[in-house]
Amino acid sequence: MTSFEDFSLSRRVQQSIDEMGFEEPSPIQAACIPIVLSGSDAIGQAQTGTGKTAAFGIPIVERATPDKHVQALVLTPTRELAIQVAGEFRKIGKYKRVRTLPIYGGQSIGHQIRALQQGVQVVIGTPGRVLDHLRRGTLKLSHVKTVVLDEADEMLDMGFIEDIESILKETPDERQTLLFSATFPSEVKRLSGRYMKSPQHVTVNRGEMTVPLIDQVYYKVLERSKLDSLCRVVDSEEVQLGIIFCRTKRGVDELVEALLARGYLGDGLHGDLSQAQRDRVMKKFRDNDIELLVATDVAARGIDVENVTHVINYDIPQDPESYVHRIGRTGRAGKRGLAITLVTPREFKLLKQIERETHAKMMVREVPSLEDVAERQAEGWRNRIVEAIQSGGLGHYRAILGNIIDDHDPIDVACAALKLASAGELENQSDVDYDFGDTGATPGMVRFFVNVGRSARISPADLVRTISEEAGVPGQSVGKIDIFDRFTFVEIEQESAPFVYEALRQSRINGARVNMEPAKPRTRTR
Ligand code: ADP
Ligand code: MG
Repeated sequence: MTSFEDFSLSRRVQQSIDEMGFEEPSPIQAACIPIVLSGSDAIGQAQTGTGKTAAFGIPIVERATPDKHVQALVLTPTRELAIQVAGEFRKIGKYKRVRTLPIYGGQSIGHQIRALQQGVQVVIGTPGRVLDHLRRGTLKLSHVKTVVLDEADEMLDMGFIEDIESILKETPDERQTLLFSATFPSEVKRLSGRYMKSPQHVTVNRGEMTVPLIDQVYYKVLERSKLDSLCRVVDSEEVQLGIIFCRTKRGVDELVEALLARGYLGDGLHGDLSQAQRDRVMKKFRDNDIELLVATDVAARGIDVENVTHVINYDIPQDPESYVHRIGRTGRAGKRGLAITLVTPREFKLLKQIERETHAKMMVREVPSLEDVAERQAEGWRNRIVEAIQSGGLGHYRAILGNIIDDHDPIDVACAALKLASAGELENQSDVDYDFGDTGATPGMVRFFVNVGRSARISPADLVRTISEEAGVPGQSVGKIDIFDRFTFVEIEQESAPFVYEALRQSRINGARVNMEPAKPRTRTR
């Protein structure tokens, strides 16, 4: 087992990592960080969501010198990723005060030029815009020590190969080159063969694993409504004693706060707590004073509790092994437990990999709608009221009601009492909608425009298969498909639409790059 301390990082970098809430390196980080620190070239191959950014971000920041010139260049396929990676670098470099800058198309180039003039140590950019700055002479790469090709497979898919080659030619030959990619197709292999010097190849696939006999299910959720989804899952699954896993210490603290605010009995466990604090939390959990224990992997490792009914992966684990560890916390002592994983579109491939490598059989479940949850709650209250009547001893309360009954309708009195007793739990709630506006779809559906059609040899079957694989939605949720020469319209059931949209707006069908957008009602007549 590796810990961040094993890398002997400088105090300020270690401090940032602590503040980010990372407790231990993910497998790709454990393998890559020492290699990158040593100055060698490296290829890191791991699925999305496994922590590749910090695998190069931490050693790059560690090796950065105070000199105010560009020391590292990270190329990413999209503007979103450039911003995301820059954000991660800013956190890692916070105490060392390493200056980073994302540069991407769509943002004013003047602003970027001014920022570059002030002296930047790490530039994170999309190939097109980086090349633009090189041609203008506003970006100098002559002192670059490290170049990172992040999400290399995606960059090549997007046709950036020539841009990347031109950029590499502007960097010193003795540079360190790092390449990160979820897959390793021949184009990526060729690129690494041509531009890297005896790279060390790191993959984090670890052969087979045995999974304890536990029922395993997953729910597809969106990042922005994840908390809501979790609450609905907890409500509908009748969690009596559950452990909820988060990726970071920070995530644990935030989730505990949010759960408490919503009236759940929960508490958190992570590496920043003293032994006494940990013992106190564990006692509460064992005594059933709390029903939900929120924990990081590290914190949960040592604990042994009987009767855990549910393990919930609020954040998907970063590798199959950690998945197996986590779900092993339930179903102890001959009792059957349930392991639940929440998965966002970005993480869907990682879930599939976990499923493959653990030979797990994970069944998909739909996040219950708010109406379902409300009905279950109402049912629960009706039962409780009937039980209270049957068990008697209400005379005392009748006395308290006094002559209210004379002045008010008894039904109103009962309703008011129920309202007070349920403390907001039964309030009217409405679903948060992903608003695609009017897309000209059949009622109950959302219509999308897809920028490929017959000329890319797309068939309806390809489309349905891709949608169901990439977004994890059943084929039945795909409705009417209209394929034209250069574009396609496809209708998706409202419930699945956000998931399909998030999963497919940047993807490939039959090797063709795909862009998907909500359709406009007018385009129908085209
Ligand atoms: P990838 O590039 O492999 O898709 P990211 O670098 O975007 O993955 O990381 C995915 C998420 O995991 C991010 O939210 C990141 O902050 C978090 N993360 C990365 N490393 C760790 C770690 N060692 N412990 C906890 N969370 C981590
Ligand atoms: Mg990444």
